[in-house]
Parts: sequence; C-alpha cells; structure tokens
Amino acid sequence: MNADPVEIQKFSELAHRWWDPTSEFRPLHEINPLRLEWIDARAPLAGKRVLDIGCGGGILAEAMARKGAEVTGIDLSDKALKVADLHALESGVAVRYKSISAEDMAAAEPESFDVVTCMEMLEHVPDPAAVVQAAARLVKPGGKLFFSTINRNPKAYLFAIVGAEYVLRLLPRGTHDYAKFITPAELSQMARNAGLQVDDLKGMSYNPLTKMYSLNQDTAVNYMVACTRNA
Ligand code: SAH
Repeated sequence: MNADPVEIQKFSELAHRWWDPTSEFRPLHEINPLRLEWIDARAPLAGKRVLDIGCGGGILAEAMARKGAEVTGIDLSDKALKVADLHALESGVAVRYKSISAEDMAAAEPESFDVVTCMEMLEHVPDPAAVVQAAARLVKPGGKLFFSTINRNPKAYLFAIVGAEYVLRLLPRGTHDYAKFITPAELSQMARNAGLQVDDLKGMSYNPLTKMYSLNQDTAVNYMVACTRNA
C-alpha cells in the first residue's frame, strides 16, 4: 500500500487535538479560510460532490460541506477519522468519512466527484504520483482538482523545517521530511501524466511578524495547484 505507517501514526497520536486552534494543527486552521475561498472561487462548491483525500480531522472537509457541498473525506488514520466524525456530529454538518486509500477509492468509485481536494498530504506519502493518478480517476471528466504541498529548495528548508519546527515551533519536530517535498514543476508533471491540465499555481506564505498567512505568487515554500481533468 502507498502509505507510510510512521506518518499515519504521527497524525494519529496528535488527532485528539485536531480541532484545538492553538495546537499543532493551528497552521491548518489559519490557512483554511484562504484555501476554502480559493477553491470555492474556482469551483463553486454549493451542490457539488466533493472528495477530500487525506482529510485528517476534517478541517477543510467540514468547511466545504458548510458551503453546501456533499463531501466525502478519506484518510488512513482511523483516529483522525473518529475525531472528524465526532466533530461533524457536534457541529451538525453532514460529511461522509471513510478509512480507505485514494487508490482503493479510485477503484471503488471512479469518476464520481465534481471536485477532488488533496491538501498537505502528498509530502507524507511514499509515491505522490500514484495519489495524483488516483485523484484523476476519482474526478469526473471536466472536474476540478486542488492539491497543496511544500516546495523543495533552500528557502523551503529554512522556512518549512528550520523556521516552523525549530524556531517558531509552529509544528512538532519531524513533521516534515525535506526529501519528500515536491517542486511545482514535479507536481505539474505528475498532474499532466495523469491526464490533468494545470490551471493555476498559488503561493501560501506565513509572515512571522504579523503571524498571518496570505495567498500570493510566492510559491517558494507552501503552494497550491488547481487542475482540470480533460473531458
Ligand atoms: N488535508 C488535511 C489534513 C492534512 S494532515 C488538511 O489540510 O487540513 C495530512 C493527513 O494525511 C493526515 O490526516 C494523514 O493521516 C493523512 N495521510 C498521510 N498519508 C496518507 C495516505 N497514504 N493515505 C491517506 N491519508 C494519508
């Protein structure tokens, strides 16, 4: 299976703090409105069937459901999924959560979703290209896909690992492995190999002085890619 058990374990151990906005998951809470609006602007979510791959505790999945989408979230951390389920129950938002890999989901429900999202997950899997392939099989022809991950270069090393894990301590040490970071060119190639067209590339950066995240054209560290599956 295309999953690293150590990675899944890491997220499982922290899962009970997923919805604490001051916890290790604070960065996900803070970027969530930005990525949600970017997705919703490119693929209006109301009424859409959406799949969120590597949904974790459901921060994005729930927010997309609140926008009126019919959301399925998949992950391989059962603990994270349990937290996601409980939180959805508590907030009264309907989301279907399933413990299944993207590849198995693609075999079970191909061409079933209008929109597929896969955020902050590709840098945790052994074979990210296979996840991109699975995502492309899961979306309907003409459907939209959104990926986010971390670029690989000295600035990304400095900001995403030294800065975030050691200096600012936004993330636990060992959260990210530099070797698994993916350049926009590599991710775009994976997308094209999967029959996707790359529509947009957006940078997401953190300003340590204002402690605010913003979307911009600086893709040197965190970035997102929007794609369309060729009809
Ligand atoms: N996408 C969510 C969570 C990101 S954290 C968000 O952005 O808010 C990364 C998630 O990827 C974790 O929940 C982890 O369990 C999941 N993950 C890691 N490897 C995976 C794999 N091979 N298959 C499915 N999920 C995986």
